[in-house]
Amino acid sequence: MTDPRFAGIGMTSARTRDRLVQRLRDQGIKSLEVLDRVRNVPRHIFVDEAIASRAYEDTALPIGFGQTISQPYIVARMTEALLEGPPLRNVLEIGTGCGYQTAVLAGLVGRIFTIERIEPLLKRAKERLKELGVKNVRFRHADGNLGWAAQAPYDGILVAAAPLRVPDALVEQLAVGGRLLMPVGPEGQQELVRLVKREQKLERQSLGPVAFVPLLGGVS
Ligand code: SAH
Repeated sequence: MTDPRFAGIGMTSARTRDRLVQRLRDQGIKSLEVLDRVRNVPRHIFVDEAIASRAYEDTALPIGFGQTISQPYIVARMTEALLEGPPLRNVLEIGTGCGYQTAVLAGLVGRIFTIERIEPLLKRAKERLKELGVKNVRFRHADGNLGWAAQAPYDGILVAAAPLRVPDALVEQLAVGGRLLMPVGPEGQQELVRLVKREQKLERQSLGPVAFVPLLGGVS
């Protein structure tokens, strides 16, 4: 990362990022590789310059089109829970948004296939990840409810928007032994769920209440 914008100054400096990492540790994030990614991926380049000074606060921020960049704690929590288990070679991500979660994950897994339904967001995410030199991600403008069958099975699936129930296509495209992390439920009553696919059943674990934008149908 030689671009001076990535290093950051003042409210986007290394010290500010270290403070965020300390906060995530205090909140229970233990994975050193996840904390390291949060320290090293410049979150401020994923948001508008006007709010870049707030990029290392542990909060969701607007990214346009009524969407938000996920809160760092949630990104770290989901990434940590997804990584738990054998190394991930093939990952499906739904809800690329600005691409921040994708960038964090890209340093920790083999390949990522990411889907976003809002085309301008996807285009911008693609540009940013290219600037950062991230090469193991493929992008698709589509409805994530259907997954990405051509690249299945996935040993990890991460969804950044909440459906009322887990879409069947995603369970189908999960490999045996694979894990799926996603928020599920109506606004105000969502929970973060971790599913592990076994030969004959799905193991389901709740990781607590969360607040995500809804997983919508179709593209825009
Ligand atoms: N991890 C992203 C989160 C963005 S918010 C980030 O940090 O920026 C969730 C995203 O899911 C939004 O961009 C929204 O457009 C997208 N989304 C909602 N429903 C979708 C669907 N059915 N298919 C693909 N993307 C969807």
